[in-house]
Amino acid sequence: MNIQKSESLYQEALDVIVGGVNSPSRSFRAVGGGAPIFMKKAKGAYFWDEDGNRYIDYLAAFGPIILGHAHPAVHEAIVEASMNGVLYGTPTEKEVRFAQMLREAIPSMEQIRFVNSGTEAVMTTIRLARAYTGRDKILKFAGCYHGHSDLVLVAAGSGPSTLGIPDSAGIPQSIAQEVITIPYNDINALEEALNHWGNQIAAVLVEPLVGNFGIVPPVPGFLEKVNELVHQAGGLVIYDEVITGFRFHYGGIQTIFGVEPDLTALGKIIGGGLPIGAYGGRKEIMDKVAPMGPMYQAGTMAGNPLSISAGMACLQALSKPGLYEELSRKGKRLADAIVKLADEYRLSVTVNQYGGALTVYFTDQPVVDYASAQATDGERFAQFFRLMLEQGIYLAPSKYEAWFITTAHSEQDVDETIRAVDHAFSQMSNKR
Ligand code: PMP
Repeated sequence: MNIQKSESLYQEALDVIVGGVNSPSRSFRAVGGGAPIFMKKAKGAYFWDEDGNRYIDYLAAFGPIILGHAHPAVHEAIVEASMNGVLYGTPTEKEVRFAQMLREAIPSMEQIRFVNSGTEAVMTTIRLARAYTGRDKILKFAGCYHGHSDLVLVAAGSGPSTLGIPDSAGIPQSIAQEVITIPYNDINALEEALNHWGNQIAAVLVEPLVGNFGIVPPVPGFLEKVNELVHQAGGLVIYDEVITGFRFHYGGIQTIFGVEPDLTALGKIIGGGLPIGAYGGRKEIMDKVAPMGPMYQAGTMAGNPLSISAGMACLQALSKPGLYEELSRKGKRLADAIVKLADEYRLSVTVNQYGGALTVYFTDQPVVDYASAQATDGERFAQFFRLMLEQGIYLAPSKYEAWFITTAHSEQDVDETIRAVDHAFSQMSNKR
């Protein structure tokens, strides 16, 4: 495959943009290094790079692009909104309507505030939980990524782990020591941590279904137990649904499993591809937020007409009956086919699939927490990633990421992907 233009752009990028990329998860370091592919345009399920190669896109921009690229309804909403000015710094009716839409879908978000990214949304829920409880400590699960604010970069997942660093420089020890990290899906560890620090913990931060060391669902009863134990200890439960919100259902994991947190953070899909975040929860807690209460949070771009319009158009399209069932069916078809091929080629592969998202791990063990995800074979993944890329299938460049099926992926796209997996596995194995 000719990627000459990507290679030369990468050289120029390295000179002026640190690392050549504007987010480390876009670099190809975790898959053997070299130039990442520079994309030129995207439509539906496809990307075209600067050299004219076409790819079926399973990255979906790390989650937001659930309707595929340049979806007509989202495109129209952005164009129309832009004609009326892109930023007012005043409230608008659309913000009200969009907040109402979100609350209808996720009733635990009794009151909502829009921000500009998932990072901001999570960061603010933590400050709010601290303001509400008067406590400082935060409990989180190892490997879960919650954005790049100081507190949550302690034992975070996809961002840093993509680069193989479990932590970040520049985070004061005084902040890191406020964060307790325990393994996901481990109730005993939660009980132990709460026995020890229970009366100092402001909140437990949970990905109610993990998307950041691959797709890892909660074991049965886990979310219920988290709520019970944390509430007993007087802390709040925060769900980070930045990846999971509107990904598997018109609502969140909380509306699928019927377990409600005190606060929720959203991002990604609710912006239809434009920058957005939102947080919300019980009114009594949200009343602490300025200008109602003493917890300060603000944003020049927050609730801007373009992001809100794109988000509304995206959610309207997602409310179509049967849409999520269709994504799930395709996700399962792809996952089943990969498992079957791995079996035929006698490769050690575990596929975690939930709805229209899946992760292909090179291991013969189940992946239920960060330690089991870390133990999977990164070199095998890198080999697989390259073999898929050469055949025009674009996966996230990390063994910890998900493949996302979008409404734009056709049955033929899935068939083409399965054929590419067949070829990749055949190269990786000499047994049939
Ligand atoms: N929380 C989760 C669960 C995420 O996956 C991400 C991004 N991958 C974030 C928070 C941060 O969102 P953003 O990149 O929009 O700041």
